Amino acid sequence: MSRVIQNFVGGRYVDGVDLFDDVNPVDGSLVAQVQAADRSIVDQAVRAARTALEGAWGRFTAAERVALLRRIADGIEARFDDLLAAEIADTGKPVALATELDVTRAAANFRAAADLVAGLGVDSFLTEKALNYAVRRPLGVVGVIVPWNLPLLLLTWKVAPALATGNAVVVKPSEDTPASATLLAEIITEAGAPAGAYNVVHGFGPGSAGEYLTTHPDVDGITFTGESRTGSAIMKAVAPRVLPVSFELGGKNAAVVFDDADLERTVDGLARSVFTNTGQVCLCTERIYVQRGVFDEVAAGLAKRAQELRFGNPYDPSTTTGPLISQAHRKKVLSYYAIAEQEGAQLLAGGGIPTVGDEFRGGSWIEPALWTGVGNSARIMQEEIFGPVATLLPFDTEEEAVRLANHTPYGLAAAVWTSNLSRGHRVAAAMRVGMSWLNTWYLRDLRSPFGGSGLSGIGREGGVHSLHFYTEPTNVCVAL
Ligand code: NAD
Repeated sequence: MSRVIQNFVGGRYVDGVDLFDDVNPVDGSLVAQVQAADRSIVDQAVRAARTALEGAWGRFTAAERVALLRRIADGIEARFDDLLAAEIADTGKPVALATELDVTRAAANFRAAADLVAGLGVDSFLTEKALNYAVRRPLGVVGVIVPWNLPLLLLTWKVAPALATGNAVVVKPSEDTPASATLLAEIITEAGAPAGAYNVVHGFGPGSAGEYLTTHPDVDGITFTGESRTGSAIMKAVAPRVLPVSFELGGKNAAVVFDDADLERTVDGLARSVFTNTGQVCLCTERIYVQRGVFDEVAAGLAKRAQELRFGNPYDPSTTTGPLISQAHRKKVLSYYAIAEQEGAQLLAGGGIPTVGDEFRGGSWIEPALWTGVGNSARIMQEEIFGPVATLLPFDTEEEAVRLANHTPYGLAAAVWTSNLSRGHRVAAAMRVGMSWLNTWYLRDLRSPFGGSGLSGIGREGGVHSLHFYTEPTNVCVAL
């Protein structure tokens, strides 16, 4: 009998109404069956969260919450191997990546949120007439809806500050990656969180747990990471109740390479930013603008790196690249491989399905694809593909590079590669995005603002930015 993943409501694991399959994308095997929550289970979870806020959890002092978060971080490290196995079974990502990035960052997310609240003061303004001070209250019951690409990392990025600031959460993990959120319930409970502070409901979006959560009348705010289209649907769902939302959405991120860049370091950085997690990171680069004089060298360097990717068993240390998350996602990415051909793109590397061992035949493997030779308005330059792909285009001047890079409805991240520091600062700051890197990619300080503009999201999280979303200030004005 296969393993069953349950919902976690009010401190107890509970069944749902139907089962759906959690599939391993490495070989198509069944990881577990998942108990989908219906509207009544989502309702119980929201009520459990409200009850926790009005009871034991609501009485936790800030210092007690800080101590709890540090115990959760320790708990994540103590159960590192279990979380690693859960993430790898759900996503197929290589063990080195899940070790270095996903599970390690989950513990760091809790520590960063603990540090933030531990150092918190009160905003106050004193004049001869009055003393104003603002107290921060938790938002209340927060719905947390997350995607499948970095399941535990993105979940804890939101849950840690939400709990640190005294909210109760109802989490809806992706239907493709239900395991680690469920395992985290054990860790959070063992660390001493009262029942109802952390709840998990499983299911899909429309007509399922996602929709039930966003339309629930007693939820006080929604924090969401996922596709821009889903963000728009959630916005509509919460509009009647004017709920606050924090949205981290899609991207079509640019890299700009100048001819004075350290090319070895640049190609290294580009390879990381295009191929990490099989291109399934919202921050991944899908558009690369290269100054004409070094175009051929950069294109050849990146194509070579694409050919060096190694597919296979995620636990084999020589594996660099896992599969895409599902057959459905592979179908979508492959449809862009066909679109690229129709648009007349020239293929520099990859572009098909790799040969893998017999044991991995049922997996959703894909080769990377690097293209050139299209205009900036081509669909492969404008639409988020979310795979190991990039299109390279040449440019001549700095102004042209900025204009091309900013020609997109998205605004999540950019990377600028140059050895001219003043140009680097100037161009990085001119990118219309939430996060702009100079001579690096995905280097994160967890206190810095994270998020995007345009179709890439609403608001920022990280450090004080999380504090602002997860709390409501009440200003008290005292006449003197
Ligand atoms: P998705 O939007 O399809 O799903 C995300 C979550 O929303 C899932 O849990 C899903 O079940 C739920 N959902 C779907 N429809 C819903 C609805 N109508 N109401 C409520 N919930 C609903 O996204 P995905 O395919 O899981 O993830 C990939 C996307 O996420 C990409 O677009 C990527 O760029 C984006 N992403 C953004 C960031 C960021 O920080 N900006 C980070 C990671 C991923």
